[in-house]
Amino acid sequence: MNFSKLSNIVNDINAVLLPRLCFGCNARLYRGEQHLCAFCRNQIPLTDYDYVVENAVDRIFYGRIDIKKASSFLFYMEKGITKNIIHHLKYNNQPVIGDFLGTWYGQILQQTKQLQNIDYVIPVPLHRSKLKKRGYNQVDSFGKRIAQSLQSRFLSTCLVKTANTKTQTKKGRFFRSKYTSDLYKIIDKEVLSNKSVLLVDDVITTGATIEACAKALDKVKNIKIYILTMAVVP
Ligand SMILES: [Zn+2]
Repeated sequence: MNFSKLSNIVNDINAVLLPRLCFGCNARLYRGEQHLCAFCRNQIPLTDYDYVVENAVDRIFYGRIDIKKASSFLFYMEKGITKNIIHHLKYNNQPVIGDFLGTWYGQILQQTKQLQNIDYVIPVPLHRSKLKKRGYNQVDSFGKRIAQSLQSRFLSTCLVKTANTKTQTKKGRFFRSKYTSDLYKIIDKEVLSNKSVLLVDDVITTGATIEACAKALDKVKNIKIYILTMAVVP
């Protein structure tokens, strides 16, 4: 018996003893399937937004923050594949999902001329006590893969969250802006001046978190801000 046959048998035995499950629907994965089953891979709701044409994510931020362009990879519904995989990413210690989504979207973005001059990919930060509790920032693995694809640098130390509170989403926009303007701050403005940065996050709902981060970034001289998220609530 040759080695590859033997290793297939070992893999099959492993699959029975330790079945790998689809992050989208919990079905057992077959040999050759990674993270998602064939059905979920086919059904996952891609936005098909790119960085060339104006899209619904851009429009979320009109009149709120000064950004060059925004996009999201997936639609996030009340129920479904996107919600399930992001739940695994955030709460079930599965940062590998960020690698998977970041590699996939990164390959698509490589074709995009708009993003060829990004200097830094910056993740929306967690407050340090939240980071300690979760053990990782769920956006990091995604951001690192995107940075690799764009041949830019991943920078997670420059933007920090100053208080362990949720971004206020229910209050009015005026109150929210005032309240959240100091929730994030820049540690080193010099590093970012005259640079193009891509701010990355998991899901955009109201856009309040991105807005607060972008306002902090916007205090840097001559910075260009782009936005990218794994998903957006349509
Ligand atoms: Zn599935």
